[in-house]
Amino acid sequence: MTHESPPVPIDVPPAVRWIVSRLEEAGYETWTVGGAVRDALMGRPSGDWDLATRAPPEEVRRVFPRTVPVGMEHGTVGVLARDGTMYEVTTFRKDVETFGRHAVVAFADTLEQDLERRDFTINAVAWHPVQGVLFDPHGGREDLDRRLLRTVGQPSDRFSEDYLRVFRALRFAGRFGLEIEPGTWKALKNATAGLGVLSPERVREELWKVLGSDATPGRALELYRRSGVLEAWYPELDRVAGPGTEGSRRWGELLAVVGAIVRTRPLLRLTALLGDLGEPDPIPSDPPLPEDPGPAASLVGLRGMVRSAALLTRLRHSRAQIAEISGLVGAGSTLPDPYRSGEHIRRWLARVGRERVSGLVRWAAAESRVQIPGAPAPDRIVASWRRVRAELRTGSPLTVGDLALDGRDLIRMGLKAGPRFGEILDALLDQVLAEPSLNRLDVLEARAMEVVNRLYGEEDADG
Ligand code: ATP
Ligand code: MG
Repeated sequence: MTHESPPVPIDVPPAVRWIVSRLEEAGYETWTVGGAVRDALMGRPSGDWDLATRAPPEEVRRVFPRTVPVGMEHGTVGVLARDGTMYEVTTFRKDVETFGRHAVVAFADTLEQDLERRDFTINAVAWHPVQGVLFDPHGGREDLDRRLLRTVGQPSDRFSEDYLRVFRALRFAGRFGLEIEPGTWKALKNATAGLGVLSPERVREELWKVLGSDATPGRALELYRRSGVLEAWYPELDRVAGPGTEGSRRWGELLAVVGAIVRTRPLLRLTALLGDLGEPDPIPSDPPLPEDPGPAASLVGLRGMVRSAALLTRLRHSRAQIAEISGLVGAGSTLPDPYRSGEHIRRWLARVGRERVSGLVRWAAAESRVQIPGAPAPDRIVASWRRVRAELRTGSPLTVGDLALDGRDLIRMGLKAGPRFGEILDALLDQVLAEPSLNRLDVLEARAMEVVNRLYGEEDADG
């Protein structure tokens, strides 16, 4: 047992101190543990303060006026502080049996046992806010000082007990800029062979944690590539990333762009990460390409769209997320040329859709900021954005729905409703994109008759 005090005492919210004191008065040893202690030791702001106690869950509920049974079978009780914040208090636990993706746990008597089941030394630290004592039996603080990530105990055992730890290791190493200790790294790479037992949802959550809370997501993602995680769970992306110690030049660029997008926009970060999926040559497992190219302007865009949709589907994203991300990938990050005609701008808008504009501009701006080859200079992005915004403000028609004439008008004109209506309206939109002033009912009625005659000839003009 190593009891030691850190050079700077850890600052704990008053409510956490109150919870610890109450439980200790009731006779139960209680500590703050895990991520928040780790963050505090690094001088980073601590997020969720988790507590570990010797009190069984029923006792925790008895001691506090307001509690929430968060997960009684795991020993977790939510304690509501006076300020309304909820803190999770979990009874000391130990693993009885592990299965690679879940474990049978039992309550334990000591903090030492509780820390032993935790994944990495830096996460297996406890701080007693009343006594002002750090309990760190696995040397987590020293590892933090040396910037090392290592498992608690035998690495290969710890990864095969729970394969999610492979992802967690890469995430923590990336987020905090830690070196992965050689023994841990070797075991981690071997463990990638077992990653198939994990559920897609948990793999997805790990990716979103990297994208949504990391200032430097490129570091964890590069570790995904080097470790073989990318190959196991994201093979399409692995083809873009390339093998070897460095990976492809393009991969480095993609990671730079992802990192140049703020973490509060993880969806856009994911878009940028998948932005080049359409590039590599066709492969047998490619999904079929749709007839309607949607926002895609090229074969590469279209392929990127279907490949990203397939990847996101496999990782159980929601329909809305799949549509949004794959649509952006399909549209691509190239903004319209700001020095060309209004028609050029409107045709770009009509293809990508108004709803994608702000995402695409942010994406292009990120590419420009990190100066990837071929990306336009920032002032050109601004110029494109100004033109696009001006065009949007004029309210120019961009979709069939914006036309001054609709299907009811065509029926009134004596045409029979059917699939041809779509073709007629598309042809009218095409004309209106070139010249918005045509968007008047009388003009479009005349144009519609011309279109009908041109497309379908005289003989069945009413069909
Ligand atoms: P974050 O800042 O991402 O929340 P965290 O360290 O708080 O990081 P959590 O997932 O919130 O991570 O878990 C809290 C603590 O529980 C960890 O610090 C670790 O001690 C332990 N833990 C979580 N998941 C595992 C796991 N799969 N195996 C072992 N211990 C784990
Ligand atoms: Mg946490």
